[in-house]
Amino acid sequence: MSIEPGCQFASDNTAGICPEAMSAMIQANQASARPYGEDPWSKRATALIRDLFEVDCQVFFTFNGTAANALALSTMCQSHHSVLAHQWSHVETDECGAPEFFCNGSKILLVPGAHGRVDGEMVAEIAGSRTDVHFPKAKAVSVTQSTEVGTVYDLDSLQCIGESARQCNLNYHMDGARFANAIATLGVAPSEVTWKRGVDVLCLGGTKNGMAVGDCVVFFNHDLGQEFEYRCKQAGQLASKMRFLSAPWVGLLTDHVWLNNAKHANRMAKTLASGLEALGVRIAAPVESNAIFADLSPKQTAAMRQRGWIFYEFDGIGTPRLMCSWKTTEEEIDAFLADCKNAVQASMVEQQERSCD
Ligand SMILES: *Cc1c(COP(=O)(O)O)cnc(C)c1O
Repeated sequence: MSIEPGCQFASDNTAGICPEAMSAMIQANQASARPYGEDPWSKRATALIRDLFEVDCQVFFTFNGTAANALALSTMCQSHHSVLAHQWSHVETDECGAPEFFCNGSKILLVPGAHGRVDGEMVAEIAGSRTDVHFPKAKAVSVTQSTEVGTVYDLDSLQCIGESARQCNLNYHMDGARFANAIATLGVAPSEVTWKRGVDVLCLGGTKNGMAVGDCVVFFNHDLGQEFEYRCKQAGQLASKMRFLSAPWVGLLTDHVWLNNAKHANRMAKTLASGLEALGVRIAAPVESNAIFADLSPKQTAAMRQRGWIFYEFDGIGTPRLMCSWKTTEEEIDAFLADCKNAVQASMVEQQERSCD
């Protein structure tokens, strides 16, 4: 089957629903079930998430990651507080102020750090830099695992951030929209990356991992999780037919589907990146999960778009961003690389002609 250029690499949410998540949805559709999470699927999914993290955590299902992040942060911060996060973080750049809104006005304080990762030392420095009444009190730190630019925090850097958080009395939030991709890279147990490093709350992404819709909020710190169902309901995030948000988790968490989906996406990203490098295209950020930043020239970018490929530029890195998913195939990669080869050669020919003039 020949590949039509399209939005395959625009994001990992352009892919559909993976078969295992779909099949769980279909099974959940067979019988009637009690609403608002009182159904067997929600109970089973919660049990599987507790098994996955090897701890008695509290689990809440939301429709999307923006709500998960904003509501998780709202358990930590009042209006006069602040959240430390990377300048490229989704909570800062892609949530339309939802964290500030649900925290009733908390400010996000930007933390620098290489390759999209918050620097643990800077967390302590920034949190400690202003403690006077005229500045919002630092109350939380948020990290994204894997990051918006496809890098991954290793255990030591998570530990370092956790220590800064403890020292400065900050709650520790993790945006795990692509948590599975980070675990696939690190090859460690999920507990090692979260509560064992001091993380209080994880927003665990299902959508980009292969579900139709749905992320969940996992509280390792039970105090923060108190009355969270009320926050979900008030924010319009309590699904009445909750089994259709939770059943896909059962599909993903059975037989390591979640991890295999992520491993596949990461492997495809490596393949695409090395193919691009072989064409002489510089890769502008370390490929540690399923994102690739390809330093195509404006001419090459335009030629690829002209051909029909849809992808976005990412402000932070300043190059086109390509994402792989559970669904990406080698044929799609070959098709993209073949067009890219033409675009690169065309721009080389043009350069040569110009230098001959
Ligand atoms: C996709 C994503 C989210 C969630 O976005 P929604 O569109 O609200 O589901 C959160 N954080 C990061 C880093 C993401 O990439």
